[in-house]
Amino acid sequence: MKILVLNAGSSSIKFQLFEMNENRSLATGIIEQIGEHDSSGKIEYDGNIIEKKEQIKNHNSGLMLMNMLLIESFTIKSLDELGAIGHRVVHGGEKFTKPAKIDEEVIKEIEQLIPLAPLHNPAHLDGIKVTMEQSPQVPQVAVFDTAFHATIPSYAYMYALPYEAYEKDRVRKYGFHGTSHFYVKKEAEKYLKVENINAITLHLGNGASMAAIKNGKCVDTTMGLTPLEGLIMGTRSGDIDPAILFYLARKNGLDIDNLDNMLNKQSGLKGICGSNDMREIEKMAKKGDKKAQLSLEMFAYRIKKYIGSYSAIVGKLDCIIFTGGIGENSIDTRVRCCADLENLGIELDLVKNNQKIKEILDISLKESKIKVLVIPTNEELEIAIQTNLLLETKIA
Ligand code: AMP
Repeated sequence: MKILVLNAGSSSIKFQLFEMNENRSLATGIIEQIGEHDSSGKIEYDGNIIEKKEQIKNHNSGLMLMNMLLIESFTIKSLDELGAIGHRVVHGGEKFTKPAKIDEEVIKEIEQLIPLAPLHNPAHLDGIKVTMEQSPQVPQVAVFDTAFHATIPSYAYMYALPYEAYEKDRVRKYGFHGTSHFYVKKEAEKYLKVENINAITLHLGNGASMAAIKNGKCVDTTMGLTPLEGLIMGTRSGDIDPAILFYLARKNGLDIDNLDNMLNKQSGLKGICGSNDMREIEKMAKKGDKKAQLSLEMFAYRIKKYIGSYSAIVGKLDCIIFTGGIGENSIDTRVRCCADLENLGIELDLVKNNQKIKEILDISLKESKIKVLVIPTNEELEIAIQTNLLLETKIA
């Protein structure tokens, strides 16, 4: 059976087609700059690329172009061939703790969550509504970034604000990157042959988050009501003293939008050293750029603080897992994050850590009590797997 996975953003649609008998990717593609003048679509399959530059006014024409690219690449003959379409949906609120087969009711529920994810959920809904119109015969499933975090206990997800902020406005920790944290923990369970693992997962990319996993279930995560909380990221500050906002607003006359933009887009690694690209920052730091060096130290220091606190929460750990663009590729970041953690039982093998990583790799010393694993993430495959599982159980 073939499953198409869609990640519809406000100006782009990423897609990937899988053959589920072998969990194999047949094609990946992207429709970009929707609504702009220089919009385009691209599909990569079997080492080939087809690219089209044309005016794409909206999601409807974007998805029509995607369908054309899929058919032109011969990866499918017609849309009827699809067994299902799996949609990435960022925010499932408290309602969606599992994937959901999409119907009018589910669409309404995702709409109600728009205030919690005002940039993401409307774009996902555009993608969902258009594909349902274009392919009404194909079952569609929503897989939520927040779902894996649904097992976090209330004492960990509540903020110590007036209780009505939770009751009335649903202010609580939700967490994100859940599909990635779940995928790598599942891969670690297979690799270590341990069921219901105790682990700390580190998804380090342009967005970055960690999860504490006890007996296979998520018990805490660094992102919060929004993806802004927690680790230092490419352009996001992560944890700060909230009073900084009042101070800067009063002192410099900043309004809510200025502060939102500052914390989400102008902070993090970029805010400190001017770049949010880890490869570039590492080059700058090697050349002696002091701000680049500082930003790398800050990035790893925040991660180490969370490794310490999550070790206390989880108890005896089986492993810590690095994933995401930085986690999978930055040898030096892994060294900085694991330095001086012998007391916690984490000991890195510097030779193994230097290898280029294509699949799961154990980079810990033999005597390390806690394994250090690098596991390439694959959120799209996980969405396809969960879509498939949901439809199979419904049919059974
Ligand atoms: P992601 O958001 O998961 O795609 O990750 C993007 C981040 O990964 C960027 O900061 C990249 O600079 C970083 N990255 C990708 N490849 C490497 C590499 N070989 N070394 C260091 N950082 C890398």
